[in-house]
Amino acid sequence: MSKNTDIYPLNQWISLGDQPLVIAGPCSAESREQLLQTAIELAKIPLVKIFRAGIWKPRTRPDGFEGMGIPALAMMKEVKETTGLLTAVEVATARHIEDCLEYGIDVIWIGARTVGNPFSVQELAEALKGVDIPVLIKNPLNPDLKLWLGAIERINNAGIKKIAAVHRGFYTYNSKPYRNAPLWELPIELKRILPDLPIISDPSHIAGNRTLLRAVAQKALDLEVQGLMVEVHNNPDAALTDAQQQLTPAAFNDFLSSLIFRNQTGNKEFENKLLTLRSMIDDADDELIQVLAKRMNLVTQIGEYKKQNNITILQIKRWNEIICMRVKKAKELGLSAAFIQKLLEILHDESIQIQTDILDKKDKK
Ligand code: PEP
Ligand code: MN
Repeated sequence: MSKNTDIYPLNQWISLGDQPLVIAGPCSAESREQLLQTAIELAKIPLVKIFRAGIWKPRTRPDGFEGMGIPALAMMKEVKETTGLLTAVEVATARHIEDCLEYGIDVIWIGARTVGNPFSVQELAEALKGVDIPVLIKNPLNPDLKLWLGAIERINNAGIKKIAAVHRGFYTYNSKPYRNAPLWELPIELKRILPDLPIISDPSHIAGNRTLLRAVAQKALDLEVQGLMVEVHNNPDAALTDAQQQLTPAAFNDFLSSLIFRNQTGNKEFENKLLTLRSMIDDADDELIQVLAKRMNLVTQIGEYKKQNNITILQIKRWNEIICMRVKKAKELGLSAAFIQKLLEILHDESIQIQTDILDKKDKK
């Protein structure tokens, strides 16, 4: 089921033409020099439209750098006056919104930690009633689409129509090689449910390092995202937060030049749809391989157990049962009986082979 919303297309609140929305700037505002030096370089890159900086930083431990707070808002104003770039800041409380409005911040975003808390999102929604400001909504840390959707709905219900979702990856038990697992199927599903909603990719927080950044950004563009939010710092190695994932303005310029913006090519709709479907196939195949590995692992355990108990490998009764049950199930799901039988035979051959190898190995000892 897809849902129509009154969310505006990006072009309605920022002039982009055919180009993606590019937001860049440091993870955190650290000093006036850092902000101005970074922003002046970024303003030379025509694609960059919005300068971002975190001002209130949610830290895990109380002794971490918690951001510059209000003094940085005046610096963001100076950045805007000097460079002409629009400015964006993360907000987590109603008070943050008031402060941003007072200093003329153009765009606000709600961070991943805040999106995961419906009380906080509701507080922000109340503070946004009657305010006309674009709001970017990051995905929550945990891979729960309903939380992300819920936050978007709360902000939209408060009357905000200039909304975009930001895909920044998810915390999972094993997200390697990424800092945050992209779980592409979630933004794809969000897009399916809310087709009008613009989605922006934040490859910096997905990758967590400079090496993977380009590949993540390209994949996001291939999946039809409408913009990128990337962390850029005039001296990344000395950054107080997220040092490993930030780029210098020059490296960011090269990064942008290396990306292929497929939206601008030929039959855009066809190509994007095809890429989306292919990515879903990639995910499905990945699951399939994991399930096969799990099955063969169980076969190994059975082989060892049979060997210990001196039982034959091939048990025709069990094999016939498997075929009957699986073919029935497959037919219910619309798969052809011939196809599933062929597949089962391949699986069975491999299972027999694994168990024979177990016997051989032990017998040779
Ligand atoms: C950030 O953009 O610097 C940030 C803190 O992001 P997130 O909320 O996605 O972790
Ligand atoms: Mn960051």
